[in-house]
Amino acid sequence: MKFDYDLFVIGGGSGGVRAGRLAASDGYRVGLAEEYRMGGTCVIRGCVPKKLMVYAAQFSEAFADARGFGWSGAECQFDWGTLHRAVSAEVTRLEGIYRSNLGKAGVEIFDARATLTGAHEVCLSTGQRFSAKHILIAVGGRPFVPEFPGSQHALTSNDIFLMEKQPESVLIVGGGYIACEFAGILNGLGTRVTQFYRGAQILRGFDGEVRGHVAHEMIEKGIDLNLGTDVLSIEAAGDKLKVRCTNDGLTEVDCVLYATGRLPNTSDLGLEAVGVATGRKGEITVDSYSQTNIPSIYAVGDVTDRVNLTPVAIREGAAFVETVFRGTPTAVDHSMIPTAVFTQPEVGTCGLTEDEARAQEPIEIYRSVFRPMMHILAEKPERMLMKMIVSQKTRRVLGVHIIGTAAAEMIQMVGIAMKMGATKEDFDATMALHPSAAEELVTMKEPTPTA
Ligand code: FAD
Ligand code: NDP
Repeated sequence: MKFDYDLFVIGGGSGGVRAGRLAASDGYRVGLAEEYRMGGTCVIRGCVPKKLMVYAAQFSEAFADARGFGWSGAECQFDWGTLHRAVSAEVTRLEGIYRSNLGKAGVEIFDARATLTGAHEVCLSTGQRFSAKHILIAVGGRPFVPEFPGSQHALTSNDIFLMEKQPESVLIVGGGYIACEFAGILNGLGTRVTQFYRGAQILRGFDGEVRGHVAHEMIEKGIDLNLGTDVLSIEAAGDKLKVRCTNDGLTEVDCVLYATGRLPNTSDLGLEAVGVATGRKGEITVDSYSQTNIPSIYAVGDVTDRVNLTPVAIREGAAFVETVFRGTPTAVDHSMIPTAVFTQPEVGTCGLTEDEARAQEPIEIYRSVFRPMMHILAEKPERMLMKMIVSQKTRRVLGVHIIGTAAAEMIQMVGIAMKMGATKEDFDATMALHPSAAEELVTMKEPTPTA
């Protein structure tokens, strides 16, 4: 059978763009449909604009720290509009690069929504229909907001990137990556931040000690973090919002940001009609080669709800091309993925938490909690945490957790050693780089006594 395309990609985000570019560069006929803006969540309303806002937020503390080093007289004012315009311009620049790189590789781009109409067929919102030998679904996810009285007033991370005016006060609901990152961003930029998390401690899934340490530092920096607290209702009161919460309190804020998780973008995609299997949250079920139960249809990235991070979506997109177009079946290894939460202070983590490791085998814990040199003259009490979890039997490093300046940069490098199977003794054999914070990673000599 003759198809219009060898590959049709639905979704121009991290996973879809990588797969489409690689297949087209190999000479295959590739079509790609994107319904919003090229680049997807990461570029348009995720990692990139978020990280730029994190950089902006860090200046307030840097200006304050500078006084301890002899600087004075710098009366700096923050202007949200200037940042908003600069971030938007950068996002637009990157969007253009994504689009032009796809074009150069030979991908035919459709600025349209696509739905599945058959195992080998897609239909676009323009009315066009195309056949393809293979279809890749890379439609990502969208924010989830629970339903409750007044939930229509809740904003999501998508809205924050479009806000032209800085809120004076915000209530952030959630205790995951997005809630904690935006709490730090907005607090650093001068907005009064209250955060509600329904559970006992933020950042569920992270190492217990990390969760406590970062929550403490967030509170120290001025975030009004309320644990075991949730919203009952939101009511508009003039240009303010009145929020009633589970602890009987009433809070009045300019806006409420819900960061309560994300759902796969699979509604009205035509999956049921074609018989593509999905899981409980609507995520597309795939095997380790990203193939669905319909042999011609594959799915990568957040829509499969495996590990919802940009580099993972990119790697899955590349592995799909290796498997389907280059004859090298390639499964993505989802273990030991370094990840960071860009809070203030930043968290970098790779491998197992202490609890996970302890449940698996006998372990040793090495930890160092210290005031980095930079904080001494700045007269900041803030401490860094370095924690290493080691297998007693194999001596392999099973987990590393870092909190503090440049934790993300450090954990990326540590991740290489861990992926190679480094032991505690390999870390010890590495000469320290002095003076640095990272040298603690190779100088932790004695395991922490445990009960
Ligand atoms: P996406 O990038 O979401 O792309 C999917 C694309 O498909 C979208 O452009 C969408 O418009 C399009 N689409 C959807 N349905 C259709 C349809 N029917 N037809 C046509 N097009 C369609 N990850 C990190 O690694 N580091 C970070 O620091 C980080 N920060 C984040 C911050 C925020 C606020 C958010 C929300 C996410 C962040 N992430 C981060 C996660 C990261 O953005 C995602 O894991 C990544 O973008 C997933 O890529 P994807 O290709 O699966 O989907
Ligand atoms: P997360 O899953 O990380 O966190 C969701 C939070 O919302 C949790 O604290 C959860 O609580 C809470 N929650 C869920 N449902 C409700 C509810 N009905 N009422 C009240 N609270 C609720 O999702 P995010 O939206 O923060 O981020 C989505 C994903 O995007 C991340 O998991 C990550 O993969 C990716 N991301 C990565 C970043 C990075 O790499 N730096 C940055 C931002 C996002 P509970 O813990 O009790 O379930």
